[in-house]
Amino acid sequence: MLSVTEARERILSHFQITASEVVSLTASANRVLAMDIAAAHDLPLFNNSAMDGFAIRSVDSSTAASASPLTLRVVADIPAGSAPTVTLASGQSARIMTGAPLPAGADAVIPVEDTDFNDRTAGLPAPQQVTFTRVVKAGENVRPRGMDLHSGDIVLQKGHFLKPQDLGLLAMLGIAHVQVYKKPRIALLSTGDELRTVDEPLTAGKIHDSNSYALAALIESSGAQTVYLGIAKDTRESVESLLQKAIHENVDLILSSAGVSVGAFDFVKEVIESNGKLNFWRVNMRPGKPLAFGEYHGRPFIGLPGNPVSAFVGFEVFVRPVLEKLSGQLSRSRRIVKVRCAEEIESDGRESYLRAIIRDENGIRTAALTGHQGSGNLLSLVQADALLIIPAGVKCVPVGQEVEAILL
Ligand code: AMP
Ligand code: MG
Repeated sequence: MLSVTEARERILSHFQITASEVVSLTASANRVLAMDIAAAHDLPLFNNSAMDGFAIRSVDSSTAASASPLTLRVVADIPAGSAPTVTLASGQSARIMTGAPLPAGADAVIPVEDTDFNDRTAGLPAPQQVTFTRVVKAGENVRPRGMDLHSGDIVLQKGHFLKPQDLGLLAMLGIAHVQVYKKPRIALLSTGDELRTVDEPLTAGKIHDSNSYALAALIESSGAQTVYLGIAKDTRESVESLLQKAIHENVDLILSSAGVSVGAFDFVKEVIESNGKLNFWRVNMRPGKPLAFGEYHGRPFIGLPGNPVSAFVGFEVFVRPVLEKLSGQLSRSRRIVKVRCAEEIESDGRESYLRAIIRDENGIRTAALTGHQGSGNLLSLVQADALLIIPAGVKCVPVGQEVEAILL
């Protein structure tokens, strides 16, 4: 049977990066950059104060001490947003607010709380003079021009997944539009006569379709777009008619759950075989052995297992990498770390993905399983913060042994 790595490689070889488009900065969150971003100007753009206080010439303060207070004349008042024209001479200072440009001549700021001007009621005019009792070092509380980055520096690279803080940085640089890769479109369907949507009442033998909701959220969180097709019945016709909808929707991938096992009503595999190609339908892993890959009328198709934990694991192991590739992401969005097993773990020799809670014990990351590992037990996944990877061929992992874990 195919190993997880072979299966993933086979799947990935069928996908290419999507085209790019230009979107507004506002619409660019969770998208992937299709261009390098270079700074059009220095950041900060001008020397400015990091504190509310008084801009001074630091040399003036060299004699200041508790026993010899220093008094400077205040010759200007510089709020944020203003453009000071004064040049400080020896013995002079300027009241200055956080973010306001430093006046010429000044090279340091003494915070207001370190001076005698400590009435901080809003709206008070600047005092005539200010007194303080300590030495102020050159550069103290000054954010010099170009401290964070210089004009021309590459700040974000092609293939970078744009996070909220990245949008803030792009705005700082005056970048209102960015070129990003088109969002991959993923058709999503569930299959099974037992399934009802979350708002339908349950009659005997029926359950709510939970995979659609979890998988759609996973798709969105990977920077792709879900085209929801609905629930197919366990008949050839119903499966075919939903898959046909995916063709009209012009999607990059068709993703289904359930119906790919060896049950008498598992039609999905057969529909794929007779309307396209079935590349493989089993992988040597746990949970999630019945996992199908192929194409339906030329469209890539991945059939995840039906059990909710298996569907989730199948997504993380096979679908997320596809979406990352399609959307041009260069770095993996899930982090893999080494953890120590806090308990002995039995495995069956298949590559296993087990739900675990990670704890920090004196600086060492340890992992304990979240109860029984049945692939229908979604609660065990809800409680987990990682999937432990037990390699193929391993039947027992002793306490204290290191294994890899995918952080969720
Ligand atoms: P199957 O692969 O069709 O044999 O389904 C395996 C198990 O997963 C069965 O217990 C199904 O009821 C369950 N299952 C299948 N699809 C879903 C779904 N969309 N949501 C929740 N459970 C499902
Ligand atoms: Mg079924």
